[in-house]
Parts: sequence; structure tokens; C-alpha cells
Amino acid sequence: MSIAQNISQIKNDLPKAVLLVAVSKTKPNELLMEAYDAGQRHFGENYVQELVDKGIQLPKDILWHFIGHLQSNKVKYITPFVHSIHSVDSFKLLEEIDKQAKKNNRTINCLLQIYIAKEETKFGFDESDCLALLQSEEYKKLTNIKIIGLMGMASNTDNQTQLTEEFSIVKKLFDSLIEKKIVDATCFKHLSIGMSSDYQLAVKCGSTMVRVGSSIFGQRNYNTL
Ligand SMILES: *Cc1c(COP(=O)(O)O)cnc(C)c1O
Repeated sequence: MSIAQNISQIKNDLPKAVLLVAVSKTKPNELLMEAYDAGQRHFGENYVQELVDKGIQLPKDILWHFIGHLQSNKVKYITPFVHSIHSVDSFKLLEEIDKQAKKNNRTINCLLQIYIAKEETKFGFDESDCLALLQSEEYKKLTNIKIIGLMGMASNTDNQTQLTEEFSIVKKLFDSLIEKKIVDATCFKHLSIGMSSDYQLAVKCGSTMVRVGSSIFGQRNYNTL
């Protein structure tokens, strides 16, 4: 199947309100252009240098989502053009995004990454750190970031019960932040959960953004995962 066919099949599967972010890490520009020519505009990348290169080389109306682990010292390279950052996992990082966004006269959409997997290799806040951040005075001083939601990465398993449990952790937190008015519900709208292997389940668990790579572009070499 072609990339265009893959995208159209996935879109048929998704409710209209769920945004498809095409995860194009490690894939060459030609493949991204196939997706682009099929109408795809939201792309997700994991590596700063790769995103910067693609941002220069590819059409300017692409909306770039940064979804990988981000080091504070590299934030400045992507803030001039990135659309949103899904993987905010510390206050220090959020502060740096705010600072660099200010320099660029921009407001950057951010999602807080919540730790939901039973795997030590994944990053993110737990519930109490997330609450503490959103209620802190330091956070209220940030002017050039907008928290638009939460992101979660489930364990690498096909155990549906476990995946449902993990997605439910972040969905419950998402709902309770809105219910308790800890976040501004006019912009806090997104739950970024679901990848190639689990996006259908993630949608059932309340996803509004799925991040799908290999089901669109094919498998990646595992050493460049
Ligand atoms: C690579 C990656 C994806 C996409 O994974 P696939 O299994 O190829 O769909 C989604 N989210 C994050 C954070 C990733 O690093």
C-alpha cells in the first residue's frame, strides 16, 4: 500500500475530531512529500537536528510537532518554527521553551508528558508533579507557552487490558484538571495518546491526537528508532 492509501485508511478509522500526526522520524523527505501531497500537514519528529533540517527543506505550511525527549539546550533550534511540543517533562524545559518563544515573539503550544508506562525508559511527570507544576507561582509567570493538553506513551505491549489501564491514567488526570479548573479549558483540549499499534484503543480511551509512524511510512530500522 502507498503512503497516501495508508493515511486514508487510518483517517477512515479515526473520528473526525481526532488529529492524525504523521510521525516521520528517520524517514527521508521524499516520503514526507508523499504524505504532504496526500494532504497531510501535521508531522511529528523526535530529533532536533533532523527536525531543523526538514523544517528548512520542506514546505512552510507543514505543522511540526516535536514528540521526542527534548534537552533544554536544544530548545532554541526549534522554537522559531515548531507548532507544538508534546514531550514537556520538566519545569526547567517549560521555562526554556517560554524564554525562547519570547525571543521569537511566539507562543508555543505545549503538552505535559505524563508517565504512564510500566517501563523505566520512558519520561514524564507523575500526577502529583503535574498538579504541583500547574498550581505553582513560577508556572503562572510564563507568558509565551500555552498548555494545550497531556501526552502519554503506553508500554510496548499488546496486552489490551494493560494498555487501557495506562491510557486511563492520563485520561483521568486530563478530565480532573479541567473539572477542578486547574487548567484553562478553552485551550486545554488535547490528549495525545496512541501510536501505530494502539491508536484504535487510544481513541476509545479519549485520544484527540494520535501519533502514527510505521503504519504510514513503514517500519523504521530498529537501530535508528
Ligand atoms: C516513534 C514514536 C511514535 C510513532 O510510533 P509508531 O509505532 O511508528 O507509530 C509515536 N510517539 C512517539 C513519542 C514516538 O517516539
